[in-house]
Amino acid sequence: MHEPRKLYVKSFGCQMNVYDSHRMADTLAREGFVETQDPAEADLVILNTCHIREKAAEKVYSELGRLRKQKQEAGSDTMIAVAGCVAQAEGAEIMRRAAVVDVVVGPQSYHRLPELLAEAKAGKRVVDTEFPAEDKFDHLPAPTRAATRSRGPAAFVTVQEGCDKFCTFCVVPYTRGAEVSRPVTKILDEAARLLDQGVREITLIGQNVNAFHGEGPDGKVWSLARLMERLAEMKGLARLRYTTSHPRDMGEDLIAAHRDLPQLMPYLHLPVQSGSDRILAAMNRKHGRDLFLSLIEKMRDARPDLALSSDFIVGFPGETDRDFEDTLDLVREVGFASAYSFKYSSRPGTPAAEHDAQVAEEVKTERLAELQKLLEASKAAFDAACRGRTFDILLEKPGRQPGQLIGRSPYLQSVVVNDPPAGIGELLTVTITDVGPNSLAGVPAETPLSPALSRPLAAMEA
Ligand code: SAM
Ligand code: SF4
Repeated sequence: MHEPRKLYVKSFGCQMNVYDSHRMADTLAREGFVETQDPAEADLVILNTCHIREKAAEKVYSELGRLRKQKQEAGSDTMIAVAGCVAQAEGAEIMRRAAVVDVVVGPQSYHRLPELLAEAKAGKRVVDTEFPAEDKFDHLPAPTRAATRSRGPAAFVTVQEGCDKFCTFCVVPYTRGAEVSRPVTKILDEAARLLDQGVREITLIGQNVNAFHGEGPDGKVWSLARLMERLAEMKGLARLRYTTSHPRDMGEDLIAAHRDLPQLMPYLHLPVQSGSDRILAAMNRKHGRDLFLSLIEKMRDARPDLALSSDFIVGFPGETDRDFEDTLDLVREVGFASAYSFKYSSRPGTPAAEHDAQVAEEVKTERLAELQKLLEASKAAFDAACRGRTFDILLEKPGRQPGQLIGRSPYLQSVVVNDPPAGIGELLTVTITDVGPNSLAGVPAETPLSPALSRPLAAMEA
């Protein structure tokens, strides 16, 4: 019998890439590959790359340099594939700069990996960055029970890909293409399978997830809210989330879903990018500061325990001190539970890259430090206010100490519990006793919060 071939997949960037990496591993499992965490023993290494900022893209070339050295030193014939958005945007450039690469595959062609690898094995260097007419999801096999178990009780399901918004700083519309929504039945089938395999929490993902408009089983177009209503009826689904949303697509039915669906977690990632109307207009965000703030008010009316996270860019071309002050002011007004913030990174081919009022690097660095200080204080205040609160956590993995398990709060905080009376894959009601910089600690509460949802489950079977 042959030894199974070993596959090492490294994901850079967003959750879409994490999901895609899993689906590539599922496709290659059929070809006899098993996953390893050690690139040195891999027969095939896939780098699933991110092109969103210059630094993210450059990481790929340094990783390829490391792999080349490792291959030379070991005299190995490991194959190297580059997938993801850098592959899509710079396929030919990768082949030119990195002779070690055998295959370049764009995000819409993952289902073709087995053929592409066969061609590479025959000595060809292959690039496939087409946007094929066929739907890759129809060809990507579902994960096995063992694969799902190894990934834990919280899973992603892609419902939508691509973006039609064309923010002037962003490469996504070019690397991921136009907005496409998956048909509802296919999403429900995938969810049912995951739930049957022990998954308890599903995060619906898409570059612009709340623009979802998939064909329903009734032939009509379903919104994200309608899809989630249907998912919330599925047995075994304890928690539902979705990311990433655009403020312009927060429809009334989606806001109402936060009021009506107990499984929908009271936590929303809603990128705003800037607090200045002038900059939001230059970014082509299609929303102003007031629309964002009024949305938050409506969301909090619908779900009073809602917490928010967001994305920010500092140093967008033309951003003045006054514009930046508006951003700080918005952060103070909203009180985010968490946030990501970035220096503007000029991306070739995007309109903002052509702007002649680029902000100096030192100014960007200063502004980022100031914004991050404020966001960290806002996060620390939110976490501190959790002390004494009681909520359900979903137990996901072992902790560092024997007997400890780590779960996720509704707000995605890590919560450490000693000797919990429940196992991985189960919900446990805890009261928060300690708040640290990276995690919280809790003890089991005497009365479960929502017995219907916290019932003992078909936990991730061993
Ligand atoms: N679709 C989402 C939205 O509407 O905001 C986000 C997609 S993007 C993968 C994630 C974040 O990366 C963005 O929200 C933005 O803050 C940041 N980003 C995108 N392009 C950037 C650039 N050129 N420079 C710095 N940050 C950028
Ligand atoms: Fe990029 Fe804007 Fe689309 Fe988000 S909405 S993916 S930031 S173009």
